[in-house]
Amino acid sequence: MSYTKDQITNRKFDVVIVGAGGSGMRASLQLARAGLNVAVLSKVFPTRSHTVAAQGGVSASLGNMSDDNWEYHFYDTVKGSDWLGDQDAIEFMCREAPKVVYELEHMGMPFDRNPDGTIYQRPFGGHTANFGEKPVQRACAAADRTGHAMLHTLYQANVAARTTFFVEWMALDLIRNAEGDVVGVTALEMETGELYTLQAQTVLFATGGAGRIFQSSTNAFINTGDGLGMAARAGIPLQDMEFWQFHPTGVAGAGVLLTEGCRGEGAILLNSNGERFMERYAPTLKDLAPRDFVSRCMGQEILEGRGCGPNKDYIHMKLDHLGADTIRKRLPSVEEIGHNFANVDITKEPIPVVPTIHYQMGGIPTNINGQVVENVNGEDKPIKGLYAVGECSCVSVHGANRLGTNSLLDLLVFGKAAGDHIIANTKAGAAQESLPVNAADFTLSRLNRLEAASSGEYAQDIANDMRAIMQTHAGVFRSQESMDEGVQKIAALRDRVANIGLHDTSKVFNTARIEALEVDNLMEAAQATMESAAARKECRGAHLVRDYEHDVTHPTCPLGRNDAEWMKHTLWHSEGNSLSYKPVRMKPLTAETVPPKPRTF
Ligand SMILES: Cc1cc2nc3c(=O)[nH]c(=O)nc-3n(C[C@H](O)[C@H](O)[C@H](O)COP(=O)(O)OP(=O)(O)OC[C@H]3O[C@@H](n4cnc5c(N)ncnc54)[C@H](O)[C@@H]3O)c2cc1C
Repeated sequence: MSYTKDQITNRKFDVVIVGAGGSGMRASLQLARAGLNVAVLSKVFPTRSHTVAAQGGVSASLGNMSDDNWEYHFYDTVKGSDWLGDQDAIEFMCREAPKVVYELEHMGMPFDRNPDGTIYQRPFGGHTANFGEKPVQRACAAADRTGHAMLHTLYQANVAARTTFFVEWMALDLIRNAEGDVVGVTALEMETGELYTLQAQTVLFATGGAGRIFQSSTNAFINTGDGLGMAARAGIPLQDMEFWQFHPTGVAGAGVLLTEGCRGEGAILLNSNGERFMERYAPTLKDLAPRDFVSRCMGQEILEGRGCGPNKDYIHMKLDHLGADTIRKRLPSVEEIGHNFANVDITKEPIPVVPTIHYQMGGIPTNINGQVVENVNGEDKPIKGLYAVGECSCVSVHGANRLGTNSLLDLLVFGKAAGDHIIANTKAGAAQESLPVNAADFTLSRLNRLEAASSGEYAQDIANDMRAIMQTHAGVFRSQESMDEGVQKIAALRDRVANIGLHDTSKVFNTARIEALEVDNLMEAAQATMESAAARKECRGAHLVRDYEHDVTHPTCPLGRNDAEWMKHTLWHSEGNSLSYKPVRMKPLTAETVPPKPRTF
């Protein structure tokens, strides 16, 4: 079987959103309420999007538990980002936070409550009051099911606003016209295997992360970086892809997440001597230091022989002192995960944990309106017709390390901001020029290459090899030699990706075809990560390279961070596999710049 041009159906909308997670649905809600004809595509039913897995909370300086304000939140986020976050975008996000959380509350989000009826907030890693002085409770939570509650709230609001969903549809490629403007996407209806062009005045990517490029991951199988792949293939660079967050507490051996909310509620990490070792590394914030820092300290304990278990290869997280009542009220899913994935009753015994890949700080470059930007002659220039929000985008508020609960916030703030900007620039039902005649040619060639290669390699064999390479060569501790080797291995994998074959070419619900197409996207994300990482010759946030480590007193590179040379964003270009750089935006919108200093806790 092969795909031909004359089988393709074209459909027209004002806006096409690819992705029905928190970010996509926050944007679509805005657009549908404004009367625009908006189509939202998703590989899965909207409420199964990965946002549903978010556990711990969404940050906003509501000050319900003690004194807090957006300036403290702004400072924590800049410091958490290890000064790679853009300070204008960070100010915008932190100022908007209370507003978007209250909006969600008014839509019906079932937040946990304090006795006085206000939203309950728990402590989280790197959240402080008075510019780092002491921990503060800023994470608004619905038990340990915050993402679940958020996604269902947004879905119901979208149903009420009559958003059109295309469920189990996979977008394949961007369509750009002769001027380079984005005018639609090609998409596959999974159930029938039919190919469509979906034409629109504006396309918004909300496709989530690419966490499945790593072997041990808290991410769902659908997190294959499709937006990144589509952008990269359409000539749009990917920003800061060397920065991947390892979450300190994945269940050892399973990778399933145990929220930072555990430590927020008082859980502690212990080594094989029963020592609460974080007191040594981070005397002020202890177990609630940011994630990159805690992950590294855990790795260090294991490397120095103080890991737990027969192979001394994990750390214990102890929760039993919180009491069964608190655990069941605040962390019910964690108790279930303990039983199901570690065979541990967390109300009685510690649970084995290891750092596990969790979040991509980089992504498709955007401005604070969600417009995708290209850096032309040193200036960020929006690409007409294309927006990106949520984990697939890089605005950049997370820089080199994201603070816990800032991602659910990022998708609310920038999902709404992108929606508002699109509304201001779109006329409902405006005439659209016909699509270019070659609109689907590239997608047709991708599909027909797969159909023809009946004896090619299995996509999953290649994906598994990729994950092993990434885990080994771009892990918590990196070295220049290992990253350079990783670059070679990933480049070699590209040739194998080109030889993937389909052993079954049936059309209806052919998941092998979907997985093969996803591997094209994983490939872009993996190569962007490996190349960007090997080029960055310093330590910053989640990027720790043993060769460049220094202690905090080093005169020019304290803790290995080299601001003189590397306080800049990486841009990886798929075509030509090359890198370029652009400066970090140090000037906030109204606040004083937070000047760089060594990051200690
Ligand atoms: C286990 C876990 C717990 C977390 N807990 C927290 C937390 O407590 N607080 C916090 O702030 N952050 C948390 N995070 C991070 C946060 O949940 C995510 O970053 C965020 O939810 C991502 O939302 P999104 O809208 O960008 O993408 P997603 O929710 O991942 O949605 C992506 C959407 O894109 C669709 N899609 C993808 N590719 C295609 C395609 N080609 N065609 C059509 N549709 C496509 C998918 O079907 C899906 O609908 C957690 C992450 C994990 C993994």
